[in-house]
Amino acid sequence: MPHYSRRDFIARLGLGATALLTAPSIISNARAIPQDKKISIALVGLGYYSEFQLAPAIMKSQYCRLGGIVTGTPAKAEKWKKQYNLPDKSIYSYETFDRIANNKDIDVVYVVLPNSMHREFVIRAAKAGKHVICEKPMAVSVKEAEEMIAACKKAGVKLSVGYRLHFEPFNQEAARFGKGDFGKVKMVESSFGFKIGDPTQWRLKKALAGGGAMMDVGIYAIQASRYSTGEEPISVTAQEFKTDPVKFKDVDETIFWQLEFPSGAVASSMTSYASYIERLYISAESGWLELNPAYGYGPLAGKTHQGPLNLPIVNHQAAQMDDFAKCIFENKESNVSGEEGLKDLKVIEAIYRAIQTGGKVKI
Ligand code: NAD
Repeated sequence: MPHYSRRDFIARLGLGATALLTAPSIISNARAIPQDKKISIALVGLGYYSEFQLAPAIMKSQYCRLGGIVTGTPAKAEKWKKQYNLPDKSIYSYETFDRIANNKDIDVVYVVLPNSMHREFVIRAAKAGKHVICEKPMAVSVKEAEEMIAACKKAGVKLSVGYRLHFEPFNQEAARFGKGDFGKVKMVESSFGFKIGDPTQWRLKKALAGGGAMMDVGIYAIQASRYSTGEEPISVTAQEFKTDPVKFKDVDETIFWQLEFPSGAVASSMTSYASYIERLYISAESGWLELNPAYGYGPLAGKTHQGPLNLPIVNHQAAQMDDFAKCIFENKESNVSGEEGLKDLKVIEAIYRAIQTGGKVKI
């Protein structure tokens, strides 16, 4: 095992942190874009994530502003209109949404609805000529995701998935660690689970959620194993467990799975709606990195075999949306495009097939 002094390590980290702050995925080059240039975002679905994470993040962002809303609840429309000083012409219901095509003041539609509604609203947004951000999971099947990508391509609009951790320094450091400073990654452990409450919520209904813990938070563990190794998995084995078959009659409660990567690296992961777990552990040939907590809104924390990670704490969603704004200004594809969302759905479908067959499934 190569020996690195504490000073080497800090120097490495310093370099890493500087690189992170100037990496193309985080906006820092204020010279390239005029300070007052902003893209206007319309949020579709004003539930928890829109109200308590995305709207406040838009307010903190550098290149975005809240330009409109789409909601099925008139009382919410009234409240948001006052709070964010929105003009009547930029407030839509799900029925009037398509008129957004004529609204020059909206650049981006951000779909924040239950998972099975993503496809419809992304395609309608694309047909209206708007760039789109779609929350994770981007769809409830590979087929749907492919249709959404095709619709955005046909309309000539950009499609991005709400993968905020690509713009978060601790997870970016995990991805950088996997690129080889400490040799090849051999093993990854990535797990995300929490105890879900209200048994009547849409997340427990297959028709709206598409699946259970796997679709909701297991997807983060899949993402982490993919960016930790820098590879796409080639096969999977998986096992499902249910401790409450009544509450989880419609969707998965707890799933363990194992991914094999082309280099021989293996990822062992777990997701659950029964109890809390939130960590990433990467074991490379001559070092390791651990994030815990790894995937929540932060502040996140981590260490390596050489000491704690000291990295900037950022607002994930503001960084994510600012990056998309930059993609629009510079006419670039997002690093978290529809294709990235599609890759995770391919893995998820393979995990569900592996549970059904009890064997190893090729991806
Ligand atoms: P939520 O239940 O709080 O909000 C859902 C919204 O959809 C509500 O405004 C509701 O009125 C509306 N809606 C419209 N039709 C509906 C229907 N038929 N049934 C239920 N609600 C309906 O959910 P949320 O937590 O805001 O999640 C929304 C999306 O955002 C999901 O896809 C979720 O995976 C994603 N999300 C992402 C993150 C992240 O960190 N990236 C975090 C939370 C949620």
